Amino acid sequence: MLRRGRRELLFSLDAWRRHHSRFQHCRVARTKRLLQSQFFQPMNFREDTVPALQGKLSELTCKSQQLMLQAGLIYPSSPGCYSYLPYTVRAMEKLIRLIDKEMQAIGGQKINMPSLCSAELWRVSERWDLMASELFRLRDRHNKAYCLGPTHEEVITDLIASQGTLSYKQFPLLLYQVTRKFRDEPKPRFGLLRSREFYMKDMYTFDVSEEAAHHTYNAVCDAYCHLLSRLGLQFVKVQASTGNIGGQMSHEFQLPAEIGEDRLLVCSGCQFSANVEAVNPGQTLCPACQGKLAETKGIEIGHTFYLGTKYSSSFNAAYSNAQNQPVLAEMGCYGLGVTRMLAAAIEVLSTEDSIRWPGLIAPYQVCFIPPKKGSKEESATALVEALYDDITEATPQLKGDMLLDDRSHFSIGKRLKDAKRLGYPYVIVAGKRVLDTPSQFEVWCQNTGEVVFLSREGVMGLLNEMQAA
Ligand SMILES: [Zn+2]
Repeated sequence: MLRRGRRELLFSLDAWRRHHSRFQHCRVARTKRLLQSQFFQPMNFREDTVPALQGKLSELTCKSQQLMLQAGLIYPSSPGCYSYLPYTVRAMEKLIRLIDKEMQAIGGQKINMPSLCSAELWRVSERWDLMASELFRLRDRHNKAYCLGPTHEEVITDLIASQGTLSYKQFPLLLYQVTRKFRDEPKPRFGLLRSREFYMKDMYTFDVSEEAAHHTYNAVCDAYCHLLSRLGLQFVKVQASTGNIGGQMSHEFQLPAEIGEDRLLVCSGCQFSANVEAVNPGQTLCPACQGKLAETKGIEIGHTFYLGTKYSSSFNAAYSNAQNQPVLAEMGCYGLGVTRMLAAAIEVLSTEDSIRWPGLIAPYQVCFIPPKKGSKEESATALVEALYDDITEATPQLKGDMLLDDRSHFSIGKRLKDAKRLGYPYVIVAGKRVLDTPSQFEVWCQNTGEVVFLSREGVMGLLNEMQAA
């Protein structure tokens, strides 16, 4: 009995060791190379089998929504609510890192406020009734009312007011967050461009005077311009109406696009541009130079407001000045639609069937396509894998940003088509010339549209020059 038990134990230990070493081997290989076959990315699903879309195929009317659904970047859960799949989350995290850099460069401090916002706070600003149908409202077990925050002027102003009187020496205060926001859109559509649950960067600023607040306002606008330029997005900054946020001065940052839901007036003679909502009805001449105003459409991705003391007076958010007297803070608020920016960038940069990303936020920078199994180039598979490993070592900023399309049962053509659709800035293909001496790789630079043949060293040199996000 004992001997037999011992033998079984030895046998199973041996089996365990073999299993364990295989497991270790496989784990090492996976952390080393990212393999397309391992990704969760439901491509090619049929739109008519998605419950949240049923009967609404006609609403799949914009490019970014179609491309993002078909490429497995988003999945609709209910009208206006999406699951963001891995590629989208990677792009979003890169975008948030860029936003953090810009906001912190002007002195922004990152915070995180609750999504459950008390109705009491919203009654102080009188927006509980004013924003009647836009708010998602709910009650807790004690019958207290809340809304799911679409914006946080009330919560932040209450936070500042609760600190007693801050010293003027602590100002300006620039506080921001990147969080989920909720809006009960009457007509959620266009995918992430108009959804009911979305990510937004919202900054709230507190200054000691109107002049200082204008200075802060301009600094935030400049940071937005800098961010959009870095992303390579063409935009217009237009005068805007202040809507239900209120305040005295407001601008929108718009990406010109045919499917845009905002109508913009742009002067051909000077820098003047405005949302039609911000000018007198029927106005056709520029107030600055009397030039003719032309109408275009835009997707709003950012909105800035100089608020004055609208909220600080309601909540009594004050600071103490040099004479130790309490003075109401001058406020500003500044939104950037994070998920909307992703979709809007795809909308304006992509072709009908291929996504194009701003290079800095592409989910992955490089895709390698090794030869097809059974082809006469198959022996070059090891060359592609070695090139992947060499680049990982030589260019550490690309580590984790490159993937190998190991679905080698598919032809190169099929995998290249997928890679074009997903918009990797660089696609490295082991085509026929990989058998040349020395080997030549086919390099698709998708953001410039160039295709070049490069040696191993040439590919390494090209990628080494890339800037990491
Ligand atoms: Zn003008």
